[in-house]
Amino acid sequence: MTPESLYPWQSALWQQLAASRNKLPHALLLKGQAGLGKMDFALALSQALLCETPKPDGHACGHCASCGWFLQGNHPDYRLLTPEQAADDEDAPAAKTTKTKKTQILINQVRELGSFFSLSSHRGSGLRVVLIHPAEALNDASANSLLKMLEEPPADVIFLLVSHQPQRLMATITSRCHKIDMPSPSHEEAVTWLTAQGIKEPTAVLDYAGGSPLAAKNSVEEGIRQLPEILQMLAKGEKTDAFALATTCVSLGMETAVVAIQKWTYDLLSCKLTDQVRYHGSHRTALQALAKSVNLGLLLDFNKKMDEARKAANHPLNSELQLESIFLLYTQLFSTQPLLNKARH
Ligand SMILES: [Zn+2]
Repeated sequence: MTPESLYPWQSALWQQLAASRNKLPHALLLKGQAGLGKMDFALALSQALLCETPKPDGHACGHCASCGWFLQGNHPDYRLLTPEQAADDEDAPAAKTTKTKKTQILINQVRELGSFFSLSSHRGSGLRVVLIHPAEALNDASANSLLKMLEEPPADVIFLLVSHQPQRLMATITSRCHKIDMPSPSHEEAVTWLTAQGIKEPTAVLDYAGGSPLAAKNSVEEGIRQLPEILQMLAKGEKTDAFALATTCVSLGMETAVVAIQKWTYDLLSCKLTDQVRYHGSHRTALQALAKSVNLGLLLDFNKKMDEARKAANHPLNSELQLESIFLLYTQLFSTQPLLNKARH
């Protein structure tokens, strides 16, 4: 992890922590909304704490033995606890384990830290680091087990807890951590950063990602390059070519396509009710026009259907057919008949 991999909005916090490197509390809770780069920061900090010859600015050198181990993912003084590493539950039906995403950090993962702590550190920095991400993935059992460790922290161990939803953590755990609000970029900083990453139309992409610069970058990298085209088609309202749009959307995968539709109809509803646009600032005029002719009741029904479609998104149905019927339904939300004006009184 190099200084360049820190995000510009994190540099002040980095300097602050680097300056207190030798007197850091034994547990830090890095908290903030998803998509700010908290985990990247925690990784950079972990590597720097373990590095044998850190740079004057506090960053890891990148070439000592310790850095080498860290970058290869096998540093003996470092443990990463994430739900992905949770061992398969052998009792669960086979069909389920393959489908279900691992969402919890299990007690065994925390217990294994016991033997890690019983050894002395291997390398020169003398520190050991435990990174837990996301901390809200701890279940009751594993959280209680961790709590005991935080109550009597082993010498020279630093716990880094990363959390998108700190309110879901046990209060007894958060009270034992030094809490750090992870900085978020200003709109301008985020746009500048996205531009430097080669993202075209950074403002539109950032709005679409709800203000999160990393989510914005990912959405572009994950192939929502078709988004401008999709939005243009949706902006046609009842004249939307449902079949052409389904063909364009099918390559996105069902879930991404449904999320794109949900964001659009969110703005449509918001425009209708409060004249606000959240995700599609550059399509405000089109949305305002559509909001005038959209049938509110049908739109609410449509949104419910989209929630269901999103839940079922991983089922192997024929996505293109499904998308076609979704977009046909979409074209029926709008009515230019005068009857609607009467009904509005
Ligand atoms: Zn190093």
